[in-house]
Amino acid sequence: MLKKLGFGMMRLPLTAGGADKDVDLERVAPMVDAFLQRDFCYFDTAYMYHGGCSEEVVRKALTQRHPRSRFLLADKMPVMMLQKSSDQPRIFEQQLARCGVDYFDFYLLHSLTATHYETACRLDTFAFARQQKAEGRIRRLGFSFHDSAQVLDRILTEHPEVDFVQLQINYLDWEDASVQSRLCYETALRHGKPVTVMEPVKGGTLATLPQAALERMRRIHPDWSAPVWALRFAAGLENVQMVLSGMSTLEQVAENTAAMEHTPPFDAAERAAVAGAAALLRQAAAVPCTGCRYCVDGCPAHIPIPRYFELYNTDLGTGGNTFDTHQAYYENYGPTHGKASDCIGCGACVRVCPQHIAIPDRLKEVARHFETD
Ligand code: SF4
Ligand code: SF4
Repeated sequence: MLKKLGFGMMRLPLTAGGADKDVDLERVAPMVDAFLQRDFCYFDTAYMYHGGCSEEVVRKALTQRHPRSRFLLADKMPVMMLQKSSDQPRIFEQQLARCGVDYFDFYLLHSLTATHYETACRLDTFAFARQQKAEGRIRRLGFSFHDSAQVLDRILTEHPEVDFVQLQINYLDWEDASVQSRLCYETALRHGKPVTVMEPVKGGTLATLPQAALERMRRIHPDWSAPVWALRFAAGLENVQMVLSGMSTLEQVAENTAAMEHTPPFDAAERAAVAGAAALLRQAAAVPCTGCRYCVDGCPAHIPIPRYFELYNTDLGTGGNTFDTHQAYYENYGPTHGKASDCIGCGACVRVCPQHIAIPDRLKEVARHFETD
């Protein structure tokens, strides 16, 4: 049986001082090898990860170095970037070449929302993917999803041919009114579709928990870290076939593979512990940004939106301590990027944000926090 941990190739280690595209291949290759040595085999990439370089890293670190039978590879059609139907074959061929494979084990329409679904309908993206599947270049077809359970129900009703869905599921979003993890999960279950889980640690948010939550968790499993709790919550859900983790270090690969050997469902005490942690986190939440970076490239003011939200969240979490470095980090971006107050409110970022964050409004908070004396 397939072990339920997938290696997300979107938070890879970077070279010293490097930008998002500067993935440190010398550190990635040993991580890939260690993952395979422990009998995990699922890798997940996308056209846009690491500024368009993730697929090439997959080729160099994985597909050129290991036999095709040793791994399963998932890639995604960037629906949000499609302008015309001829973009689809062009991008698909490019993806196969970049990855160095002649088929994908899993292929997804990337990040469907109601808006992106309209694009996929207009350009017949499902039909394109079905054709590739018929030709054996896609083994299993699915889509990743960031909208309400109602929209998910509509897509699954109109496209019963999909083999699986990829959903944002974690114990903090489980009852969240925007993300609707539980409702989306139950919708997939009702349609009989296996679920691949993305953002199980919510972009790192669930890696750092309030002390009271951690103490309760340690009483149940003294050897589980906060990220392990998050991964095991998702993996223990019935009908979940895979849980993706965007790993950045060899240590994370070692810890996560050890924790995901066996993934039984949570018992009542474990469920109560994560519900308690979620309640505490909700009390302290600032901006629910997962750091996916979908908003970054289209911003005319060149604002590093997720970086600012991360700094803001962390600064609030540490009580805005005058000795912390968040203010300095914020100011470091000044020479090369827009400030939070440079936002012109064009809304380009809001249209692509899978977390439905009111980004211009939240940037005003960031500007008030970091730009006023
Ligand atoms: S609304 Fe502001 S942050 Fe968003 S894309 Fe436009 S300028 Fe950038
Ligand atoms: S603001 Fe939204 S789109 Fe931008 S990185 Fe955060 S979650 Fe992603």
